[in-house]
Amino acid sequence: MKTLADFDFKNKKAIIRVDFNVPLDENFNVTDATRIEAAKPTIDKILADGGSAILMSHLGRPKGVEAKYSLEHIVKKTSEILGVSVKFANNCIGDSAHEAATSLKPGDVLLLENLRFHTEEEAGDVAFSKELASLGDIYVNDAFGTAHRAHASTTIIAQFFPDKKCFGTLLAKEIESLNKVLKNSEKPVTAVLGGSKVSSKITVIENILDKVDHMIIGGGMTFTFIKALGGKIGDSICEDDKQELALEILKAAKEKGVQIHLPVDVVAANAFSNDAATQISDVNTIPDGWQGLDAGPKSLEQFREVILSSKTILWNGPLGVFEMPSFAKGTIALGNDIAEATSKGAFSLVGGGDSVAAVKQFGLEPKMSYVSTGGGAMLEMLEGKTLPGIAAILD
Ligand code: AMP
Repeated sequence: MKTLADFDFKNKKAIIRVDFNVPLDENFNVTDATRIEAAKPTIDKILADGGSAILMSHLGRPKGVEAKYSLEHIVKKTSEILGVSVKFANNCIGDSAHEAATSLKPGDVLLLENLRFHTEEEAGDVAFSKELASLGDIYVNDAFGTAHRAHASTTIIAQFFPDKKCFGTLLAKEIESLNKVLKNSEKPVTAVLGGSKVSSKITVIENILDKVDHMIIGGGMTFTFIKALGGKIGDSICEDDKQELALEILKAAKEKGVQIHLPVDVVAANAFSNDAATQISDVNTIPDGWQGLDAGPKSLEQFREVILSSKTILWNGPLGVFEMPSFAKGTIALGNDIAEATSKGAFSLVGGGDSVAAVKQFGLEPKMSYVSTGGGAMLEMLEGKTLPGIAAILD
């Protein structure tokens, strides 16, 4: 696996796929610069070597050229973060890009206009990829969020750099962290899977059953399992057509020696609302008119024991409707337990949109070993798929 450390960038132009798909407010100010900050170590290393950096990214989902999706909006913020006056080319290919790239000096940074102003980007067009490739000497992919897409800038471009391509710091860290869970994990390994639906996590569950010792199942998914096992779930969310599948998962887990931990009690509410009346209910006897919206205290105690005895922990999906304070306690408690296990030496990886949001909201991000930046890409890796953007560098 080639990384930045394998190259000396002195007098070289690195063409870097970054993920600068950042949120902007109505005046086009960057409201969350996390993704730009995340790319800084890669860019810093290249500049420190005496090279220059050509940054390419998409922003939003433009239909052709749309000014509101111009990456020019983020030049100022990027300059601030990098401490370099970033140059801008108002097209990612063609004369303006070429002239700007050719005139780069060591220490310079050039940002190219939105790749998705050209439909060839998402189509993975070879000629377009070749044009992008002609701008730089070494190709660096540092965008995990798009690594599951075979787009021009994330995958196809790599063929033009047979032995001059590598992962950036961020992408290398993502791969290393996932491998720590999926390949070289220290046992016992525990996966916590929450969120709303079995159907959206089923491929992940199937793939990781071979890699874990414990699986904690929480969130809305719980009730499809409980109902399939004969429990009364009241008005809780349930995918009736997935009950058979739930039983198959439990059977497969047993065969593979994986211990499944389902909630034994829940916080039940008489409406899907933060102000609803609540009661703690046994998970198997939720009254009609009530729905389970968070894990109950006994469940949390049991989950805590499992977490504190684990050496590797993967967390994907909240334990309850954490967006409502009344039903956030389970997710917060679990997050704190994982933080505690981590402080005692466990490796913890949090990934998937909603658990990342929860970890950030509750200030737990610095207490986790690694919080993944790529929702879809992370899920596909957990499903056991080979991501085209990663394969293209490994070739
Ligand atoms: P997912 O995108 O599948 O990870 O699901 C995340 C969503 O699941 C969050 O928005 C939670 O509010 C929701 N969720 C978690 N627990 C429950 C529950 N018991 N009932 C309904 N929704 C839930």
